[in-house]
Amino acid sequence: MAKSIPRTTTHKSKSITKTTIKNFQVQISRKILKVKVYTPICKPLNGSLPSSKISHMLKLSPFNYQYTSGKETKTKTTTAYMIKGLRGVLRHQVMANCKEHGLEVCHTSDKETTRQGKSLISEGFHLAGSCLEKNECIVHAVFGSKGNKSKIRVSSLPIANISHKTFQTDFRFNNVHISTENRVALTYEGETIQDFSERYFSGEFEFEIDVSECTAEETGMIIEGVMYMYRLGRGHNTGYGELKIKKMKLVKMVTIREPKISGKEEFTIKEHVREEAIPGEFTEALTAWKKCLKGIKAKNKGE
Ligand SMILES: [Zn+2]
Repeated sequence: MAKSIPRTTTHKSKSITKTTIKNFQVQISRKILKVKVYTPICKPLNGSLPSSKISHMLKLSPFNYQYTSGKETKTKTTTAYMIKGLRGVLRHQVMANCKEHGLEVCHTSDKETTRQGKSLISEGFHLAGSCLEKNECIVHAVFGSKGNKSKIRVSSLPIANISHKTFQTDFRFNNVHISTENRVALTYEGETIQDFSERYFSGEFEFEIDVSECTAEETGMIIEGVMYMYRLGRGHNTGYGELKIKKMKLVKMVTIREPKISGKEEFTIKEHVREEAIPGEFTEALTAWKKCLKGIKAKNKGE
């Protein structure tokens, strides 16, 4: 006869009060450059999905929102998308500005030529990361290169399209207009042979650059780069992807997290974010960058 397996006694969990850590809090402090932008029409850099005729923007999670219709509260689901390409646009702009100022910085390429021998590096730049050993340039210090970490982080809240004026949701996003254009690429005797769709968005959105690790002059260089940003995404050769930089704000952002008991074995982490504008540091950053450029000019003249 098979032996009966002794029942393991479940350990009684200790009293909740003993597992509570009172007033335990962590604080994450960051310096963030917030940028408010308007685009009349933009197609972020995304490819199409296989077996689909629609060129998609990068789809993120669907989320719920509530809105009122008469006396009723209704719930609906919508999809969030990602805005891609912001960091790349900023980097190219910063590179171009540095060249204009007479400062040799890293190119985005770490290869001198293509396999066919075509030069990849334009004049006035060096190979990405090649300055690291001797004299690291400011673009490398900020943006890094393959294998070398970037100091900054560029991010934007997801975008979504909700037209109900009374909507409410916990999901943080930029509410913009998103539309799909159906296009016919090829017809034969009046019949459509090839067609495809493209998604665009339009409206105001905000993105953030984490400059916590940057020096004043590096922050100044980034601010200048942002001020020059004027296009984003695909299709700019046909007039799309225009950016209007409307506002900038440098803030000290503190995220405070605290564990709170929510069950016998689980703790919910309460989070709240404190934000404080630091306009003085914004001005200081630009002054430091201007001073740095003056030094470069003087040095270039002397050579
Ligand atoms: Zn460099």
